[in-house]
Amino acid sequence: MWLLTFASLFFVWFASLIAYFPRKPAFLISGENANKRNVLLVIAHPDDESMFFSPTISYLTSRGHNLHILCLSVGDADGKGNIRKEELYEACVTLKVPRQQVKVVDHPDLQDGFGNKWNHNLLSKIIEQEVLDCGIHVVITFDDYGISGHCNHRDVHYGVRKLLQETARRDIEAWELLSTNLLRKYSGPVDFWISMLFASRSPTGTVHCLMNENPRRSFIAMSQHSSQWVWFRKLFVSFSSYTYVNTLRSIDRSEQVQRKGNHQEL
Ligand SMILES: [Zn+2]
Repeated sequence: MWLLTFASLFFVWFASLIAYFPRKPAFLISGENANKRNVLLVIAHPDDESMFFSPTISYLTSRGHNLHILCLSVGDADGKGNIRKEELYEACVTLKVPRQQVKVVDHPDLQDGFGNKWNHNLLSKIIEQEVLDCGIHVVITFDDYGISGHCNHRDVHYGVRKLLQETARRDIEAWELLSTNLLRKYSGPVDFWISMLFASRSPTGTVHCLMNENPRRSFIAMSQHSSQWVWFRKLFVSFSSYTYVNTLRSIDRSEQVQRKGNHQEL
């Protein structure tokens, strides 16, 4: 009985995956330079890329997009900043992102830690410089909750928003990785179905679900972060939906104006 129920659920899930693909336009295939976009992934710490964004990275690199990664700290909360920086480069090799396209910032005002608030203007300036240096068309980052709720992740989000609001970089396309609730967060590949339903109810082109075509590579990439590779992170990478699917939502520019008034400047 249980087997039948499980098989039925699996069938519905699988059938819906197949049904989904023809209806939705793929991510980053429209507009000029459709075949090759310069994309900047902005993260807070070494390992964010492997723990949270690997479906996005896999999608972009396998389709020939030119992916750059900007990591805004060395992750020195435990005094292992220098080691963690090197681990990030190793993980990026696994994820097929060339080392010269990975930049790690070590700024005294951007240090890893729960109590460390990062200045949004400073973040915006650093991100803007990278956008200019690399001719970036598309920026991808955390949403305003930052998946785990870590304040550094959230500040990075607001740094990108600041860049979009207050600089001349209004031609930049920006996407945020949606944070999910705890149940979905640990539902592994099953979350693709839920993400897909969410995306199908959103206006066309504003939300994309990217399924990881190579979850094993994500696991190997995370294992390159040896200093962080403890049992609970192994469990996290195995069961986290972020290993299998990323839901990206377009950062709404009208929402930026609204938030500008509500959000307390740091
Ligand atoms: Zn992080």
